Amino acid sequence: MKPDDAGEGPWLEVDLDAISANWRTVGQVYSGGRVGAVVKHDAYGLDASRIGPWLARLGCRHFWVDTYDEGVRLQAALGDGGPFGVFVMHGLGARDPADFEAASLIPVVTDAAELARLRTQGRARSGPGCAMRIAVQLDIGLTRLGLNEAELRALTPQAWEGLEVVAWVGQLSRFDRPDDPVCLEQQQRFVRGTAAGPAAERSLACSAGVFGSPQGHFDHARVGSALYGVVAGPMVEGRLQTAVTLRARVLRVQRVPAGTGVGYGPGWTTPEARTLATLALGYGHGLLPAFAEGGHVVARGQRVPLRGGVAMGLCTADVSTLPEGQVRAGDWVEVYGAQQALHEVARAMSISPNALLVPTAKGARRTYAGGDSGGAAAQAGAREPSP
Ligand SMILES: *Cc1c(COP(=O)(O)O)cnc(C)c1O
Repeated sequence: MKPDDAGEGPWLEVDLDAISANWRTVGQVYSGGRVGAVVKHDAYGLDASRIGPWLARLGCRHFWVDTYDEGVRLQAALGDGGPFGVFVMHGLGARDPADFEAASLIPVVTDAAELARLRTQGRARSGPGCAMRIAVQLDIGLTRLGLNEAELRALTPQAWEGLEVVAWVGQLSRFDRPDDPVCLEQQQRFVRGTAAGPAAERSLACSAGVFGSPQGHFDHARVGSALYGVVAGPMVEGRLQTAVTLRARVLRVQRVPAGTGVGYGPGWTTPEARTLATLALGYGHGLLPAFAEGGHVVARGQRVPLRGGVAMGLCTADVSTLPEGQVRAGDWVEVYGAQQALHEVARAMSISPNALLVPTAKGARRTYAGGDSGGAAAQAGAREPSP
């Protein structure tokens, strides 16, 4: 359904059936045992409270978030259909181990000090079968979070007392190219590191990894991008359904003579008479100003260039190549979606697709098509460009 007509900001439409199809594709391609869904940053901006329960209905039982707060909100949205394993990738953060237990969240240990705190908690309440459940991240190359090789070597068997390690976690430095030689080296580091502690599921592959060689799959994939149709690496190209479409509303269309300045500066001056469409889309909605340099939107099925820069809430498309009167105030133009793929738009801006998706999705009004919403998407008078 299209957002109410009173709204003018950008509109993100999420196709739940496409997410279902992508979930099934990932499940078919992945050779390991388990696929967990990454729903950090509000499910990449799509709204974790909608996406989490939808994935749970599809059979997903393991979820990965960044923070404790995200985990608590997700558990509330998931409700009683579990049990669910919710992993918090940034570790304890500002919280105590007891908070994680109370909220049924699994902290992913980020360094040796956290491991020691969790062990204290685990031993304090330990009896048969009631160890503290944790996952452990190994730093295999990013130098961000995770135990490094020196920390791992320094651990004695007692370091794990009172703890049940349910997963080992690693992240490749070229996650988008899992079969790159650098990644193969890091895989070996991951295998060596995990062998130094208790046996547990090993989680290394993310979206691109699932579509890479099976030797990099291990036991539990952490998949975000692929579920949302984001092509997170060359191996994923052509394998997924488009699940998100961002559209911007046309506020005004005007015919202007040659020599007309467009945008601040002016950013551009018309070389001849042109027809310009002012769009309610700007950097305040998460669109980088770089989008104006070579960026396009799709108006009534045709790609048209942006001109004159990106302001906080506005930008301008040159729609002169379309027949007069085709584009009108109130129309919606596509910023990314089925007609202009998110990853291709991002590539033209030299950024990763998620760096375009997350802020623009968060900056848009979101609607959901398919699934429970009945599938009657975006009709009711919206003048949409036909492909
Ligand atoms: C975001 C993230 C993922 C998910 O990556 P996708 O490429 O979106 O599937 C997996 N693991 C970690 C550690 C992450 O930060």
